[in-house]
Amino acid sequence: MALTGAGLFLDGGAEVLSIDGGTVSAVGQAAPASARVLDCRGLALGPGAINAHTHLYSGLAPLGLPPPEPPPQSFLQILERLWWRLDCALDEPSLRASAELYIAEALLAGTTTLIDHHESPCFIEGSLDVLADAAERLGCRLATGYGATDRNGGPDEGLRGLDECRRFARERPRRFVRPLAALHASFTVGDETVRHAADLGLPMHVHVAEDAADVTDAKQRGFAGPLERLLTLGALPRGSIVAHGVHLTLAQVRAADDSGLWLVQNPRSNAGNRVGYARALDASTRVALGTDGYPADMRIERAALREESERAGHPLSDDTVAARVRGGHALASSLFGVRLEPELAPGCAADVVAWRGDAVIHVIVDGELVVENGRLTRGDLDAIRAHAREQAPRLWQRMKELA
Ligand SMILES: [Zn+2]
Repeated sequence: MALTGAGLFLDGGAEVLSIDGGTVSAVGQAAPASARVLDCRGLALGPGAINAHTHLYSGLAPLGLPPPEPPPQSFLQILERLWWRLDCALDEPSLRASAELYIAEALLAGTTTLIDHHESPCFIEGSLDVLADAAERLGCRLATGYGATDRNGGPDEGLRGLDECRRFARERPRRFVRPLAALHASFTVGDETVRHAADLGLPMHVHVAEDAADVTDAKQRGFAGPLERLLTLGALPRGSIVAHGVHLTLAQVRAADDSGLWLVQNPRSNAGNRVGYARALDASTRVALGTDGYPADMRIERAALREESERAGHPLSDDTVAARVRGGHALASSLFGVRLEPELAPGCAADVVAWRGDAVIHVIVDGELVVENGRLTRGDLDAIRAHAREQAPRLWQRMKELA
C-alpha cells in the first residue's frame, strides 16, 4: 500500500511519530484508529542524511568509467582527462540516466537531501530541468545550479551557464528542488563571469582551493587567493557554499565563517585526487560533509572523514564529526526554508529514515513515503538501473571520441 501526504503515523511500538503534511507534529502520541499507520516496530527512526556537495552528472561512473589515459599526474590532469571529458560527453538521455540512478541510490541509502553542482558544457540549456525532474519524480530534496565556466568557450560559455541558473530559478517553483548560482571554480572563470554570477542574487555553490592550482591562479590575477577574489567581486553572498577549501589557511577559513559562508569537506574525493587533507576547516562553525560525486551513502563518507583525518595526523573528535553532520542539516535548512534537524522533534521537517540495523527500510521526505520496505514508491529501480546500463557505454564511447 502506498501511503502519501498528511496524517501519517510511524508506529514504533513503544513510541509513535506523527506526521502532518511535511512536518513532524508529535512524538509519542498514539495513532487514532482510522489513521494511516506505517509499521516501524523494531526499527530505529532518524532524520534523512544530507549530502552537502555532489555531482549528479557523475552518477554513471560506478558502471565502468574507463580510467584516464595516460594516467594523470596532477589534479588538473584528472580534470582534463576524466571529469571534463565526461561532462562534455553528457547529453540529455545520459544525464537523465545519471541523475535517476544517483538519486534512487541516495534515497535507498537514507540520504534525503542532495546539494548538487552541475556541469554539462555540450548540453547547457535545460540541463537543470533534467536533474530537477528526476528529484521531483523520485521524491528527493535537491538544490542545484549550473557551474558556469569559461574553460571551453570563453566568457560566452560562462554567460550561458549563468543564464541557465537564472532561467531555472525564475521558472515554476518545485516541491523538492531549490535553485543555486554556481561557478565551476575561480581558476576557470574571468572577472566578467564572476561579476555576472554576483548579479544572480542567489546563494553561490563553487569549488574553492580544492587544489593549490586554484590558489596560484588567483594570486596571478592579483588576489590573495580564490576566496578573496570571489568575495571581492561580490559572488559569495551570505549562505553561499564553498566546496573543499583544502588549501585555505586558518585565517581564510575564519574569514569565510565571518562572511556567513558554508564550507563543505569531501574527504573521500580529496584523498582520491591526492589534493591534501582540509585541516584548516575546524576554524569555521559552518562545515558540512559532501561526497563530491561519489555515491551518497553518508555513513561511508563519515567513516572516510575519520580515516583521512587520522591519516593526516589530525584525528577528529566525535564532537567534530557530529558538528559536520549538524552543519549539513543547518545548511539544508537555510536552502529549503524548513527545519531539517539532526534529531527528530515536533516542528521539524518530516524527512525520516526507518532503519533495521544497517538496512534502510522506509524513507519519508517532506512527509511523503518515498521508500517502503526497501523499495522506491515513485520509481522502478530495475528500470532505472537498466537505463543506466544502456547509457553508460554510450557515454564512455563519446568520451573516447573527445580524447
Ligand atoms: Zn565537486
